[in-house]
Amino acid sequence: MKKISEQVMLLELEMEFMGRDSIIHPLLLSDKGYTMLIDAGLPGQYEQLSDELKAAGTAPELLDSVLFTHQDLDHIGCLPELDAANRYATFYTHEGDAPYIRGERPLLKNNVVPWQSQLTQLPHGRIDRYLSHRQQFHIAGGMEVIHTPGHTSGHVCLLLRQERALIAGDIVFYIDDELVLPPVELTEDLPAAMHSLEQLLSYDFDTLICYHGGVCHDAQARLRRLVEQSSVQRRLHNGSYPAGS
Ligand SMILES: [Zn+2]
Repeated sequence: MKKISEQVMLLELEMEFMGRDSIIHPLLLSDKGYTMLIDAGLPGQYEQLSDELKAAGTAPELLDSVLFTHQDLDHIGCLPELDAANRYATFYTHEGDAPYIRGERPLLKNNVVPWQSQLTQLPHGRIDRYLSHRQQFHIAGGMEVIHTPGHTSGHVCLLLRQERALIAGDIVFYIDDELVLPPVELTEDLPAAMHSLEQLLSYDFDTLICYHGGVCHDAQARLRRLVEQSSVQRRLHNGSYPAGS
């Protein structure tokens, strides 16, 4: 667990991803006793997640809310245990991904981790409220929901205004000190994802908090470079969008 500020804690869970060991980063926001967990790790990580929450001064059963940036397995993994441990917390996601998270439709991707197809039961659970574009939360100095379809149709990013930080979800990864696009095979709609990425450039932030890779500073300029490079490559590839691997 790393403290970004008094109100923003970066949790750390271990994961093997794209053939290597890496850390994924749920976040805990807290404000005057109100707590919100953002994303919930992989199936099987509930104990690790609980330990990280304890290190941050809370526990699953004490959370006031849980927000899922999107439906992928590494973001909703501990939803069933959180659902069972805490009937009072409000669970949020965008309407576009809610039916998948509730288990009403099969998850869009079956290849987030190599062992996904071996799971006898995929995680699902309740969603209480839908997030909408530009929705404001009075937490951690003000948080705005930005609907960023592409990686999945219900993917959201979150702007922490006071921190001048953007919670990226999976719209971009931060790997080996580089911002990169998520793998194309994990992207539902690549043109939409690129459009969402461009849209983020109109927001005011210095820091990106990436679920895959953690905190990236000087983020506006770096994101702009990534968008520019991607659009040059797209023109070179006759209009098709390339993506990082
Ligand atoms: Zn992810």
